[in-house]
Amino acid sequence: MTVPVQLLDRIRAAVDPAGWIGPGPDMAPYVAEERSLWQSASPLVVRPKSTEEVAAVVRLCADAGVAIVPQGGNTGLVGGAVARDEIVLSLGRMNRIRAIDPANHTLTAEAGCVLASVQKAADEQDCLFPLSLGAEGTCQIGGNLSTNAGGVQVLRYGNARDLTLGLEVVLADGRIWDGLRGLRKDNTGYDLKQVFIGAEGTLGIITAAVLKLFPKPRDRATAMAGVGSLTAALDLFQRVRGRAGDSLTACELLDRRSVDFVLRHIPGTKSPCRQRHAFYVLIELTNASVDGGLTSVAEEVLAKAIEDGLVEDAVIAASAQQARDLWRLRETIPEAQKHEGGSVKHDIAVPISRVADYIDAATAAVEKLIPGIRPVAFGHLGDGNIHFNISQPAGMAAADFLARRHDINRIVHDLAIEANGSFSAEHGVGLLKKEELERYKGGIETDLMRILKRALDPTNIMNPGKVV
Ligand SMILES: Cc1cc2nc3c(=O)[nH]c(=O)nc-3n(C[C@H](O)[C@H](O)[C@H](O)COP(=O)(O)OP(=O)(O)OC[C@H]3O[C@@H](n4cnc5c(N)ncnc54)[C@H](O)[C@@H]3O)c2cc1C
Repeated sequence: MTVPVQLLDRIRAAVDPAGWIGPGPDMAPYVAEERSLWQSASPLVVRPKSTEEVAAVVRLCADAGVAIVPQGGNTGLVGGAVARDEIVLSLGRMNRIRAIDPANHTLTAEAGCVLASVQKAADEQDCLFPLSLGAEGTCQIGGNLSTNAGGVQVLRYGNARDLTLGLEVVLADGRIWDGLRGLRKDNTGYDLKQVFIGAEGTLGIITAAVLKLFPKPRDRATAMAGVGSLTAALDLFQRVRGRAGDSLTACELLDRRSVDFVLRHIPGTKSPCRQRHAFYVLIELTNASVDGGLTSVAEEVLAKAIEDGLVEDAVIAASAQQARDLWRLRETIPEAQKHEGGSVKHDIAVPISRVADYIDAATAAVEKLIPGIRPVAFGHLGDGNIHFNISQPAGMAAADFLARRHDINRIVHDLAIEANGSFSAEHGVGLLKKEELERYKGGIETDLMRILKRALDPTNIMNPGKVV
């Protein structure tokens, strides 16, 4: 759809001179796409600096029936922020921390606050904002909430949805809903904020949020264990959880191939154990008390697990630097995998009890489909969320491999659904997984989603064509 020139003029007039970018080199970061699967195009990127300016722009677009793509840090992995000739509304200039209420354990942030800056603001108040993910230096709170982001501490603190107490939203008709309440109990009708969280910008534009804060960890133990099987990895998770309880903040899985890729391609990384193991489990325990004795807990559990033959070898970080080095092995897997040619990525979830069977079955099935294929299984073991990312066989042309993407997806997603799981655990649907949504959630669930969409955005101007 071509946006009328008069409307573009009116939108530009509704914001200050730094509040818009026309086509040209400055627009490049807003029309790029993280996985290079799409090239965005837009006649105008508008960057309002207040909720009122967002509302003014939405009203103009609503009156003209012109569509808007809300955008945060543009780090999403499913093409949700891709524009196809719509107006891009970037929240990046709405980046104020509006309030911190340490006694209420809350922080009110504008949608354009970069996640790392929210973590820092909490830290300065001796508190923790626990949402943590690889893109935290770029992604924004509005984007995190709109994708209901997960990350590495969901096991202990929940995902973005669980960390939010209130929202401010500009609705599709330009009205502002002020739901910025910092209440832990509020049973006054439907929980409207949850409708907008995870909606990927299809129902309204989040402009601010009240977020939960937690006591800052003062004791920490980080360990990596090498195990011979997935069953052993899961048994270890259960043992650590049983012994450490809620102190278990993260439990991540790395298969041998992912560690091999990292050691091969990421400078400065080194093998965590003396020998190679089929799987590695990265464990982090944290506690708010100064001497929680967490290192002793980790030593005790791991020593017993070695004695019982469950764990083959283990290392406990002796310094903050060693802990960072262990985490680096986990966090650089996606980067390392890029050096191994074409890959098809997944973000599945299954019940934790079924992770081992799932990975075994999916590995066997994709190896049968394309001999020499190289699955890399890693992710949030403690959440049952595995990034089952598959690299092409060595020597195969990347294009030939990527042409089989749909066959691979079908196997990987069918098996997840058969295990009562999800085809998208934390990345969302966007453009990439729209067909999958229809396929696996068609019927009542997509009907209800469409009813909501029509009710909240009757003229379909909010990120049209995404999700449903
Ligand atoms: C290196 C890397 C690591 C990652 N690790 C994780 C991880 O561990 N866990 C995880 O969950 N994700 C992860 N992601 C994915 C991504 O970072 C998250 O989805 C993030 O929450 C997106 O935030 P963003 O600000 O970049 O949003 P964008 O990419 O800009 O937008 C994402 C979606 O939200 C909508 N949107 C953005 N802002 C708003 C708003 N204010 N109001 C309404 N709609 C809006 C957009 O239209 C789009 O549909 C990772 C990405 C990268 C690149």
